[in-house]
Amino acid sequence: MPSAPKWVFDTLDFFVAQIPRVQVSQTEYLSRSVKRISLQGDFAKFQFSVGAFFDIRVSDTNARRYTIAEINSDKDNLKLIAHIHGHGCGSDFMDDLTVGDHITLNKPRTEQKYYDKSAEKIVFFGDETSLALACSFLSVMQQEKKQYLFLFELDPENYHIPDLLGLENAMVFPKLTLFSDPAQIEELPIFKNNDWCDAYFVLTGNVTAVQNFRKVIKAQTQARVKHHGYWLQGKKGL
Ligand SMILES: Cc1cc2nc3c(=O)[nH]c(=O)nc-3n(C[C@H](O)[C@H](O)[C@H](O)COP(=O)(O)OP(=O)(O)OC[C@H]3O[C@@H](n4cnc5c(N)ncnc54)[C@H](O)[C@@H]3O)c2cc1C
Repeated sequence: MPSAPKWVFDTLDFFVAQIPRVQVSQTEYLSRSVKRISLQGDFAKFQFSVGAFFDIRVSDTNARRYTIAEINSDKDNLKLIAHIHGHGCGSDFMDDLTVGDHITLNKPRTEQKYYDKSAEKIVFFGDETSLALACSFLSVMQQEKKQYLFLFELDPENYHIPDLLGLENAMVFPKLTLFSDPAQIEELPIFKNNDWCDAYFVLTGNVTAVQNFRKVIKAQTQARVKHHGYWLQGKKGL
């Protein structure tokens, strides 16, 4: 429920148990438009599967989804990575957060099973909104010794971020070019050799790019695909 009247969110906040005393403990701009936010709180009783997210109330009448990038072993500190794109209340809310702010969180949610334990090879595609999900994949893929490849479409100011986050085996492409055009997607090296044709593909981020990429994968390979468009140009609160 991305948008609803204020009384609806107020009622939910009243009846749904919230995680007590969650506070911003650190913020870092990894670039002008990507911000990593650390939250301190008692998260011990929750399950954090790959891709778990919070629906965060970002204004009186709006909630937006943000993925948990990582959580420490004591389960009292976790990190979010937000795209500060500047066109929405979620982006503004994340931009405004500073150390010491209290934040209201309901328990983390997982709607989709993104990670497939049985897959030996994983190709992950996304944009700035997918960086947190990529981080949550990375630790599990490394533990389970998977073969993996990250493909990102990013704004130029963010080309360095996969490296900075330790996302090894990453290829970075300019946004709104290659993945806007199925003919160019077909030319990607992964479709030119057989190494990745039996991989499990996970596609998130811009809805149009995700749909284009999925169409090409389906046409060119027998691979399994998990796709979830995170945002759509011109649409609020997808
Ligand atoms: C399960 C799930 C997990 C997600 N996890 C994350 C996460 O960890 N980090 C993260 O940053 N985002 C994440 N997202 C995406 C985020 O929830 C959306 O981008 C959301 O629309 C942002 O809300 P907003 O209020 O800033 O913009 P909205 O009010 O939703 O949209 C306002 C305008 O901004 C545009 N817009 C929205 N998002 C973007 C964008 N990224 N780039 C450019 N324009 C945009 C819309 O097209 C619209 O025109 C996730 C989404 C889902 C479904």
